Amino acid sequence: MTVTVSVGCDFSAGHRVLGLSGSAAKCGNLHGHTYRAVFSFVHGTMEFDAIKAILRVMVAELFDHGFLVGRDDEFLSYLREHKLKHYVIEGPPSTEAIACELARRAIHALPLTQLVCVELRAGSDNVATAWSTEGTWHAD
Ligand SMILES: [Zn+2]
Repeated sequence: MTVTVSVGCDFSAGHRVLGLSGSAAKCGNLHGHTYRAVFSFVHGTMEFDAIKAILRVMVAELFDHGFLVGRDDEFLSYLREHKLKHYVIEGPPSTEAIACELARRAIHALPLTQLVCVELRAGSDNVATAWSTEGTWHAD
């Protein structure tokens, strides 16, 4: 039997996702969400409180009240020029892509743990979960 432990971290951030059509085209406007990330690990060697503390600092420093911007988004130069807090995501900063980036960061911050998945909620309706397959993270 495998036991997992999960840690939730809330943060607020702005983003925009360019190139969507139909009702999703509105995502191309600058806007923000209150996100809830839930990191699930195989219960192992680290104390639960230590995992929680490291993840919450990581999320606060890198993501909270920043702008999640795609590397190819022209808005990135504005953020850099005005020294605004931002985090560059490879490709469009969709909920799925952000979940995968949170997973990569969590593994880097907690190398002694075994991350199972990261569930990311953007508002009350949208949820993406990042899973690892042979070391590569993907979301569904
Ligand atoms: Zn959005």
